[in-house]
Amino acid sequence: MAEVTLTDVTKEFPGGTVAVDQVSLTVEDGEFMVLVGPSGCGKSTLLRMVAGLEDVTSGTVQIGGRVVNDLPPKERDIAMVFQNYALYPHMTVADNLGFSLRLRGMRKPQVLEQVTDTAHVLGLGLLLERKPAALSGGQRQRVAMGRAIVRRPQVFLMDEPLSNLDAKLRVAMRGELSRLHQRYGTTTIYVTHDQVEAMTLGNRIAVLDRGKLQQVGPPDELYAAP
Ligand code: ADP
Ligand code: ADP
Repeated sequence: MAEVTLTDVTKEFPGGTVAVDQVSLTVEDGEFMVLVGPSGCGKSTLLRMVAGLEDVTSGTVQIGGRVVNDLPPKERDIAMVFQNYALYPHMTVADNLGFSLRLRGMRKPQVLEQVTDTAHVLGLGLLLERKPAALSGGQRQRVAMGRAIVRRPQVFLMDEPLSNLDAKLRVAMRGELSRLHQRYGTTTIYVTHDQVEAMTLGNRIAVLDRGKLQQVGPPDELYAAP
């Protein structure tokens, strides 16, 4: 695990859009930080800079005290889940979950142990031999999350992971996410435009507006009645 520290991070796209404007923010080791704000306020861009999918224009991104600005994604110990995930259709749930571990040369018993544990936390224990086509939408989304977290990354990034699910399922998935975080304690940054989701999930919430960080605090402070 590791903390993530952004210092004066700015992203200006060619053409002049300043998507992220001098943001400084520390996400503590093991914390579940929710980044919330209206569409277009720079949430995805911020997350993508932490992931290494987007260069910073200025400022620094540190993971575990190490400046990672110039490191490519594969040299950062992070995992990311998007709203549009794709599972390997010809593989079973177990193989989808274990793929990245096998790719890294992990031995079979260890792969089995980590896959079984993650499947259990996500309620996928009885579905390990199924192929994605035989799963519901919610189950597929759980596999996508499991596939990201199964290798126990230092940092877990999620960009609106529930937004393709219907309202009822979104509520159910919040519980799954909390369980996952309780189990592994991975430092997490979770992007959403949904304030209720932010309040339910976050240890702390960072509010972004037009690229600027407006406030940061625990849910009861930010959304307390005036
Ligand atoms: P959010 O995730 O909060 O919806 P984004 O980070 O996607 O916001 O976008 C922030 C701003 O940056 C928006 O004005 C968007 O149009 C702009 N933007 C995002 N990606 C690019 C890009 N690749 N090129 C130019 N502008 C971009
Ligand atoms: P949906 O079909 O709307 O995606 P779910 O994915 O929530 O519904 O549930 C599909 C099946 O998985 C149900 O039979 C449910 O009982 C089972 N299930 C859901 N969550 C869990 C869990 N955490 N542990 C075990 N089984 C679960």
